[in-house]
Amino acid sequence: MRNCNTPKCPKRIVIIGAGPTGLGAAHRLTELGHENFVVYERNSYVGGLSSSFYDEKGFTWDFAVHVAHSHYHYVDQLMDSLLPGGYFHHERKSWIRDYDSWIPYPFQYNFRHLPPQHCDECLNGLLQLRMQTDVEKHTAKAHSIQNFKEWMLQGFGEGITRHFMLPYNLKNWSIDPALMGVQWLGDRVPVVDVERVQRNLRENRDDVEWGPNHVFQFPKRGGTGSIWREMAARLPENRITLSSEVVSVDGKSRKVQLADGTVDEYDCLISTAPLPRLAQWLAIPSLMVTASKLKYTHVYVMGLGFDSPMPKHLAEKTWIYCPGTRDVFYRVTPFSNFSPHHVPDINGSSSFLCEISRAGTEPLQNPGDFLSRVLQDMNRMGVMPESEHEVHTYPMTAEFGYPIPTLDRDDILAELMAQLEPLGIISRGRFGGWKYEVANMDHSIMQGVEAVNRILGVGEECTWPNPSRVNAGKS
Ligand SMILES: Cc1cc2nc3c(=O)[nH]c(=O)nc-3n(C[C@H](O)[C@H](O)[C@H](O)COP(=O)(O)OP(=O)(O)OC[C@H]3O[C@@H](n4cnc5c(N)ncnc54)[C@H](O)[C@@H]3O)c2cc1C
Repeated sequence: MRNCNTPKCPKRIVIIGAGPTGLGAAHRLTELGHENFVVYERNSYVGGLSSSFYDEKGFTWDFAVHVAHSHYHYVDQLMDSLLPGGYFHHERKSWIRDYDSWIPYPFQYNFRHLPPQHCDECLNGLLQLRMQTDVEKHTAKAHSIQNFKEWMLQGFGEGITRHFMLPYNLKNWSIDPALMGVQWLGDRVPVVDVERVQRNLRENRDDVEWGPNHVFQFPKRGGTGSIWREMAARLPENRITLSSEVVSVDGKSRKVQLADGTVDEYDCLISTAPLPRLAQWLAIPSLMVTASKLKYTHVYVMGLGFDSPMPKHLAEKTWIYCPGTRDVFYRVTPFSNFSPHHVPDINGSSSFLCEISRAGTEPLQNPGDFLSRVLQDMNRMGVMPESEHEVHTYPMTAEFGYPIPTLDRDDILAELMAQLEPLGIISRGRFGGWKYEVANMDHSIMQGVEAVNRILGVGEECTWPNPSRVNAGKS
C-alpha cells in the first residue's frame, strides 16, 4: 500500500459499504479534510447489520439488540457528539433459561438453580479442575489448549461445559467448538472462584454482580440505527451513494463497477463487504479458493410485537440465553425494555427479538419458516405476553451473521490480505476483516478510521492487526 503522507492529497478513495466500518472511514476522511472519496452502499439505508427498521404499526426493530461497549476514547467522543443526551443508560441483566429454570448470568456462579444432579455435576467438574491446576497451568500457552472446546473444559470443567458452555456455543456458532481456535479468546482461560461458587450454593445466594462494563447506553429513539443515520448526515453531501451495489472489481486497473454499469476508479479501495464476495468480484481463482475456506453463520432475527405490555417478570431483564436444544433460538431479547419508543404504546404493547443461527454452508431459509417454532418455544419458556389479538411479526435475515474463528482462520486471512494489498485494497470490518474478536461496532468504526490513517500516512492500524492489544484496555 502506497502512502501519500498528506491529508490534502488527491488520492481517490472508494469505500464499499456504509456500515459502521465504512462510515468510520468516511468520518475520518472528512475529519482530515480529504475530499476525494465516495461510499457505495447497496442498501437504500446506512448502518449495515447495525441498522434499525420501523414498521407501519409503530414498532422499531434492531437486527438483534446492539449494545455499545467501546474500547476507544475516540468512539466514546464520537457517540456522544452524534446523539448528545440521546441515550438511556441500562444495567446489563442477562439470564439463562434452561431445564425450566431461570439462571442469572454468569452461569458458573448461579448453577444452583439447576436440577440437583446437574448442579452436582457442575460443582464436581470445578473441584476436579482445581485439583489439577495451579495458576500457571491456566495459561493457554502452557497448557497448549488447541481449540475452543478444550478451553471450556480447562476453564469450567466437565459439568458446566456439558450443561451450558457447549450447548450454547453449538447453537450460537452452528459448528463444533472443537473446530474453533482460541486466538479470539485472549491468552488465558477463565479461572472460576470455587469458594465463591460453594458459598453461593451454601447460602442459596444469587450472585448477580454483573461485573465490569455492566452499564451500557442505548439510543432513546430510533434504535441503534439512529447513530449511523446521524453519522451519515454529518458527511459532506453526495459522499454516500445508496442503492449502489458493487458487482466487480478490477484490481489491476483499480476500478470498481456497479450494478447499473457505472465504473469508478480508485487509488485505494476500502472494502467492508464479506471477503468471499470481494474475491468473487476480483475473479482471481486463487483468492476465491482461499476465501471460500472461511466459515460463517447465517442469522435470522424474528421480531415479535404484542398488543399487551411486557410481563412483569421480564421487565428488568435485558436478554435471555437459551442453550437448550428444545428452543429454536439461542437468545431472546425483550426489546421494548430498551426504550419505550420501540413500541406504539409502552403500557399496551411490547416487543421481542429472537435470534436463530444456522451454518453458512446451509441454504438460506425464509425467516418466516421459523415463526411457528419461535412462538411455540416462547410459550413453553413462559415469556409470551398475553395478547388478545394477532402477534405482529418482523422477520429479518443476515446471510453473513457471525464470522467464525476456525482453527485455520488466521492463516487464511494472512494469505488473502497478502494478495489484496498490492491491488490497493484494504478489507476491514466484521466480514471484511473476519476477526470476531474485533467485529463489534466500536471495533468496526475504528477499523475504518485506522485504515484511513494508514492510507493518508497519519497513523498506524492497530485494531485489525493487534486485536488483543485493543481488547486489553481503553485506547
Ligand atoms: C446478531 C448480531 C448481534 C450483534 N450485537 C452487537 C452488539 O451487541 N454490540 C456491537 O457492538 N455489535 C454487535 N454486532 C456487530 C455489529 O452489527 C457489527 O459490528 C457492525 O455492523 C459491523 O459493521 P461493518 O461496517 O463492518 O459491516 P456491516 O454492518 O455488515 O456493513 C457492511 C455494509 O456493506 C454493504 N455491502 C455489502 N456488499 C456490498 C456491495 N456489493 N456493494 C455495496 N455495498 C455492499 C452492506 O450492505 C452493509 O451495509 C452484532 C451483529 C450481529 C449479527
